[in-house]
Amino acid sequence: MSKLIAANWKQNGSSLEVDNLTREIIKGAKKLKNLNNMILIPPSVYLERVSKLIKKSNVSKRISLGVQNISPYKNGAYTGEISADMCKDFDCKYFIVGHSERRETFNEDSVMISKKVLNVFNTSQKIILCIGETLNQREKKQARKVIANQIKSGLSLLTPKMRRTASKIIIAYEPIWAIGTGKTPSLQDIFLMHKHIIEISAKIFITNRSIPKILYGGSVNSENSNEILSIQGVDGALVGGASLNAKKFIDICRSI
Ligand code: PEP
Repeated sequence: MSKLIAANWKQNGSSLEVDNLTREIIKGAKKLKNLNNMILIPPSVYLERVSKLIKKSNVSKRISLGVQNISPYKNGAYTGEISADMCKDFDCKYFIVGHSERRETFNEDSVMISKKVLNVFNTSQKIILCIGETLNQREKKQARKVIANQIKSGLSLLTPKMRRTASKIIIAYEPIWAIGTGKTPSLQDIFLMHKHIIEISAKIFITNRSIPKILYGGSVNSENSNEILSIQGVDGALVGGASLNAKKFIDICRSI
């Protein structure tokens, strides 16, 4: 099965750097033999230029565009926010919702996250819902419960009808202690947590025929990506730091 490899560039880069990074990734993607799908998620102010570069390449079918954050509202007097419809102008297909940096640094709570999920659900785009436990929660053996609660609350506003469309949601399991630290859970721990997420999702999405794709995120690099992406239940990776280097990111995409 083809894997989804998403590059979250966070608040990094200038227009020149973003152009160069995008061009280098496109160049690398042309040489990739496997059919993995790539998602580039630049800072929102650079969506248009990245979109143009992707469109004029001949790998535009294999590279999609995503957005790091999205308004919980359709449109209106919400200073500083951008809507799903605006992003559609640049052909954005994915929205990250609930990244731990938004939850922790910008105090986004589960109510806000569930509103964002609902808002994107009503569009033609897909949601990458990030979930993950802190080190403290893990050490107290609360990780499974925290993850279950984050999934349930994130999807709590979906109607029964929406719960038949699991393909709209991608879940990214990102242990917070693994983000940007160079640390990762053991392969067995990743396998068990993804299995747990599959079981919870299967109960939420009424149809058992499909459940959301599940990505792993947290210090994925070109050395560990093959092992991580080979784990049963891991449908791809959300990559932060390593995606700012075209060679490293392409090596991750090539690794499986
Ligand atoms: C992230 O923040 O989504 C992430 C996975 O970061 P990193 O790869 O740098 O750990």
